[in-house]
Amino acid sequence: MRVVHIMNVEDTRCPYCAQETSSDAEWIDAARRAWGWCGFAVEHDQRRLAVLLLAPDAARQRALMTTIWVDAAHARHGLGRRLIQAASADLVNCGVSTLAARSTWPPTCAAPYQGFLRGCGFAYVAATGVWELAMRTTVVERPTTHGLVERIVASLRPIGPPEPAARATRTRPISS
Ligand SMILES: [Zn+2]
Repeated sequence: MRVVHIMNVEDTRCPYCAQETSSDAEWIDAARRAWGWCGFAVEHDQRRLAVLLLAPDAARQRALMTTIWVDAAHARHGLGRRLIQAASADLVNCGVSTLAARSTWPPTCAAPYQGFLRGCGFAYVAATGVWELAMRTTVVERPTTHGLVERIVASLRPIGPPEPAARATRTRPISS
């Protein structure tokens, strides 16, 4: 099992809703220009077990999560979190300060449930209605003697059992 960069949106079709990102979408080119990739995948035996796609918001030094899903047979093993960690490590080197995401219940591949985001270190920003992972703030608040990537990854340690887009069999979170 390995985490790889995604350069185009082929083979990223969501297994839950079968939604496919159009390869004509403008943000895919923008992401490739900005970062050299448009997402990450967890692969095993030529199969994609989990996918994360991100769009750039260059004006605000943000990356916007457009898609995240984990194959049902491999849910609850932290694959979604590994994708967020991989993206964060690369994005901070690209000058991106914030990773932003929307949340819904039941979760979808475009908007995971809030427990997953919280478990990955995101905080809800009421003013904008989105969840944000502030990378530089995270680094400042959690200084260690290790390198930048290690510091960020350490900050993403899970609080709960996060899973972004699995079938909605879990109970509804207490708070909303
Ligand atoms: Zn979907």
